[in-house]
Amino acid sequence: MIPVSLVQGSYVVAGLLFILSLAGLNKHESARAGNRFGIIGMALALVITVAAAAMGTKATTGEVSITAKGSGWIGLAIMLAAMAIGAGIGIAKARKVEMTGMPELIAMLHSFVGLAAVLVGWNSWYTGGTHDKVHNAEVFIGVFVGAVTFTGSLVAYGKLSGKLKSRPVMLPAHNAINGGILVAFSVMTVVFVYQPIRPLLIVMTVLALLLGWHLVSAIGGGDMPVVVSMLNSYSGWAAAAAGFMLSNDLLIITGALVGSSGAYLSWIMCKAMNRSFLSVIAGGFGSDGNVVGQARDYGEHTEINAVAVADLLRNASSVVITPGYGMAVAQAQYPVADLTSKLRAQGVNVRFGIHPVAGRLPGHMNVLLAEAKVPYDIVLEMDEINDDLPETDVVLVIGANDTVNPAAIDEPDSPIAGMPVLHAWEAKDVVVFKRSMATGYAGVQNPLFFKENTKMLFGDAKERVEDIIRAL
Ligand code: NDP
Repeated sequence: MIPVSLVQGSYVVAGLLFILSLAGLNKHESARAGNRFGIIGMALALVITVAAAAMGTKATTGEVSITAKGSGWIGLAIMLAAMAIGAGIGIAKARKVEMTGMPELIAMLHSFVGLAAVLVGWNSWYTGGTHDKVHNAEVFIGVFVGAVTFTGSLVAYGKLSGKLKSRPVMLPAHNAINGGILVAFSVMTVVFVYQPIRPLLIVMTVLALLLGWHLVSAIGGGDMPVVVSMLNSYSGWAAAAAGFMLSNDLLIITGALVGSSGAYLSWIMCKAMNRSFLSVIAGGFGSDGNVVGQARDYGEHTEINAVAVADLLRNASSVVITPGYGMAVAQAQYPVADLTSKLRAQGVNVRFGIHPVAGRLPGHMNVLLAEAKVPYDIVLEMDEINDDLPETDVVLVIGANDTVNPAAIDEPDSPIAGMPVLHAWEAKDVVVFKRSMATGYAGVQNPLFFKENTKMLFGDAKERVEDIIRAL
């Protein structure tokens, strides 16, 4: 038997380690330490939870001694086997996944948390014994949040992996459908608290699964980053709800940390993309789902080759590089880092301008550039670099598209209208690295490519940057 005080004490320590981990992940420099705190906290939490579940717990309050029976050796063996299988699959997946595949993997993992909350809720309702009112509310709300997270994350996985179209699916009266389900859920929660009957739980689970699917289906490509972090937040609340149902304090603390930090990140991203927080979580609220802007005729584009780009760079005194998803696909960060040090050695002022949603997950570009050892102090946020672009000689747009699209400013009917973008076109010369004239993630054409001061350098970004280094 393990003393309850030891279990609770370990949970407090693990909770503190998770808070230190979040604080560490806030900055490039401390991110590794942050990860280590998280790993130690999770290891401690796992060991103590499994030990308590297998060996049982005992507590003494005054004269009264309370013991909880553990599941014994067989229970321990089953738990360890399940953990080994889960860890095996997790390690194999994590080793194989490309950086560009991270968002869909994360969305898939969120769906597991949602499904776990649904299963814990149903199990707790069946095996809960006395159906007291607080427990009924915990089960009903926990299953709801879990089911919304489950299908919402599956749709996000489908959209991010390209298995589903990224364009918004707008059913007629979609706002009324969402609102109707929320009202029905509120009424059913009150009824379930007093009358916990199975049909109500079944109907609510089905409605919540539909709501999750409907909310995320209605969200367009450009808003997907906010959705990924919103689902991160939902998965945290689903875990916290499971913590209430299982009376596990650590799960409540961890769930609340994930839930609130995910919500905060979503809010920051909404601000960065000039989207209303409410409109994104309400699933495309206020949008009619039409994707326009592709049919416009922007004229002719001009091509350039690597040797001519090398000439431009040789004569430049300031260069800004704005990377995007294509740099990640091409794994061009290493030659980009080489090109940067070459140009800096020749006295060129090279800086990076990073859009908050460049790539496919928050901080994607920063991670890649840090991996290639680009100094942190020349990697600037969009807001820090935008004012300097009119005085910049050359902007190299490496595999970025939506994040440098002037249609966000000039075309009010564009699906990305209102989203702040990097003003690459204000520089003297702009070179765009991409393989074709295809659109970016949001599915809209980019008038930047047709501007007079823009030259297109076609081909794989890594190969083209290497060509430029050779020509220099
Ligand atoms: P985009 O997806 O808009 O554009 C990427 C560009 O890279 C494409 O135009 C593509 O053109 C080019 N490209 C692809 N592979 C290569 C290659 N090997 N070599 C050269 N070019 C290549 O990327 P951005 O980073 O500009 O914008 C991110 C988009 O993703 C935004 O719409 C954002 O909302 C969305 N998003 C962001 C998330 C986040 O959290 N950051 C999460 C989910 C979505 P071509 O095919 O012609 O080569």
